[in-house]
Amino acid sequence: MTRIALNWRKIPQRYNLIGTQCVTCETYYFPPRIICPKCRRKGKMDEYKFCGEGEVMSYTEIYSPLRGFENIKPYILAIIKLKEGPSLTAQIIDCKMNDVKIGSKVKSIFRKIVEEGDEGVILYGYKFKLVKD
Ligand code: ZN
Repeated sequence: MTRIALNWRKIPQRYNLIGTQCVTCETYYFPPRIICPKCRRKGKMDEYKFCGEGEVMSYTEIYSPLRGFENIKPYILAIIKLKEGPSLTAQIIDCKMNDVKIGSKVKSIFRKIVEEGDEGVILYGYKFKLVKD
């Protein structure tokens, strides 16, 4: 069976943490926005690749995962505030629930998210890992 990395190039922000920055007011957006809500027509948007550093704002352990996630339950899902400002929801891997705290420093890594056995489709995306200090 041939496996297809479905989202590999189609949706670059899913694996590369690409958002936008408004050149006018210097605000960062993730996911990317076309128009800056602060500057409206005066704003000018540029593509921006986030450095992937951030900290945990809140987190939870998921025991009843969505279809495709069954083999990795339970897993930790967190709201992460990126260094540049925007926040996003992502999985934290390679750690236990007790290791995660509000304010924990994290770094993004590129990992396989879902493997659909029947169709042979693998989805890739960003996940986060605790930064040991
Ligand atoms: Zn702006």
